[in-house]
Amino acid sequence: MYRKIINEIFIGTNNQGKVREIRKLLPKRLKLNTPKRLKINSPKETGSSFLENSLIKAKYFSKKTGKICIADDSGLEIDILNKLPGIYSARWAGRKSDFKIAINKVYKKLKNKKVNWSKKIKCRFICALTIYWPDKKFFQSKGIVEGTISEKPKGKNGFGYDPIFIPKGYKITFGEMVFSKKFKIDHRFKAFKKIKKFF
Ligand code: IMP
Repeated sequence: MYRKIINEIFIGTNNQGKVREIRKLLPKRLKLNTPKRLKINSPKETGSSFLENSLIKAKYFSKKTGKICIADDSGLEIDILNKLPGIYSARWAGRKSDFKIAINKVYKKLKNKKVNWSKKIKCRFICALTIYWPDKKFFQSKGIVEGTISEKPKGKNGFGYDPIFIPKGYKITFGEMVFSKKFKIDHRFKAFKKIKKFF
């Protein structure tokens, strides 16, 4: 097991919503860097699972920078849509990352399935994290938050699919929840708990 304490890390994502959450989850003493500051584009996500894609990203950014890198791959799985959008969650929003498009796509697909909104539309956010060291060692973890799809998008907080996700045990969407609450119960937080020992 790789046990050396990390003092400096590269956050391997160009998604500013994720950067914000990951920053908040990491200890304040850490020196952080992001692809945006160094103008590095993201790699193609060619994996077939969240874990594979997070490894692709962490490895890519670590190779580009020569630094220890942390990357996440995350997304929303909707049971009735055969777990879609899943690893395609970002891609459903198109080239311009327009989540109105992605959310409309979710509702369109649910409509095609003739869902009954009086029943719960079960779904979950999944986050796979990889820490990748320049000597090619890596460590992975996964976090899941279960929930249901809201009949309508609600709230302006957060990013991505937050306005349509109601976490289990709550009556409001992540989009309606204050950031300080969301980030303590979500999939990313749960995956982070399992890698805390490195910091
Ligand atoms: P990727 O991991 O870069 O492939 O992107 C995953 C996509 O899943 C993001 O662009 C978001 O749309 C969505 N996603 C992941 N985590 C969250 C979250 O915490 N809230 C809302 N959407 C999320």
